[in-house]
Amino acid sequence: MNRRQFIFTAAGGTLFSRIPEVLATPPAKYDLIVKGGRVIDPSAKLNAIRDVAISGGKIAAINANIDADAAEVIDARGKLVVPGLIDIHTHAGRSNDGPPLCLADGVTGFIDAGSYGADRINETVAVAKAARQQGRVLINIGRAGILPEGDTMDISRADTAAARDAIMRNRDMIVGVKARLSRDVAGANDYEVLRRAQEVASSFGLPVMIHMGQTISPLPKLLSLLKPGDVVTHMFAPPPNSIIDEAGHILPEVLAARRRGIWFDVGNGRNGHLRWDIADGVLRAGFLPDTISTDWSVEARTAQVINFENVMSKFLMLGVPLDQVIAQATVNPARVFKVFAGRGTMKVGAPADIAVLELREGMFEFVDNFQNTRSGRQRLFPTATVLGGMRVTK
Ligand SMILES: [Zn+2]
Repeated sequence: MNRRQFIFTAAGGTLFSRIPEVLATPPAKYDLIVKGGRVIDPSAKLNAIRDVAISGGKIAAINANIDADAAEVIDARGKLVVPGLIDIHTHAGRSNDGPPLCLADGVTGFIDAGSYGADRINETVAVAKAARQQGRVLINIGRAGILPEGDTMDISRADTAAARDAIMRNRDMIVGVKARLSRDVAGANDYEVLRRAQEVASSFGLPVMIHMGQTISPLPKLLSLLKPGDVVTHMFAPPPNSIIDEAGHILPEVLAARRRGIWFDVGNGRNGHLRWDIADGVLRAGFLPDTISTDWSVEARTAQVINFENVMSKFLMLGVPLDQVIAQATVNPARVFKVFAGRGTMKVGAPADIAVLELREGMFEFVDNFQNTRSGRQRLFPTATVLGGMRVTK
């Protein structure tokens, strides 16, 4: 049999054998297959080219080659396939535009970190409830929320009764208390504001997230009020009251806080929270972030933050290995708030939340909160999002 005859025979055979299948129209074995991408799932220590099959909203299989039928296929060749990103410091709950914009960037779980206090908490709770992805809220201990003149400059705004009442009404949606402590936010009240935030949070068994940096009280004094499971955001804030001293040593109280189970988070933001030289020193001292978060807001999409992938790329530029950057944006944040338990992973059986990213090579400019620019050779971009097994389309 020559080659031409073989092809003819093979094609004919395929045709005949296909007919009964077409008539029977068997259901596709999977709902969706994400095909041919580099799967990086730090929760499973996996970094390899894999197909990911999804059915019933769950990860059904991950193998080198899955040839079964699927209702939909995402071609991920040349792309990274990672668990859905979890951003524990955003302001996505300020308007209904927030959550879908984050979702398009691969953020399948978010926390609105203290946009509002007791007075307007219903607004942010409503936004988080309406979001397609999991969204939860930290209540600002300042009852008026974020104020240009400072949330708790007037200490009477740190109203524990109002905060307690708001939490009681929204137990399913409020997952912690936010205390913003910089001198332009709380002034000399920082310690008392945190004490009140902790009093409220502890009474519900909830964590506190503190916004550190440029405080009047020394950081060790503030850290002494934190309990295991609490979160320190803006960990790369420059002095006064950084986590690192002038000699390049991480403060012993900071090391001790990490040992007793307090999380250290990036919170990129736009003003005063991230300066390259501080990040260099902290990373050089071997003190990596537990979690990367953006401090995202609709306004930050055009400056500083842009999107979660841009913030992650800054850490690639600063020398953090890709697998660790992915861990800091997936499995690690999933551990911080109980609502994300079982997420941030692509293990078989997990909810099928996936971000497909592109890692482009080139020259990319990154800017810190003090307008210092640096260039890096890689930048991540969002390509596709899968939420609960369904490809997200706008
Ligand atoms: Zn913030």
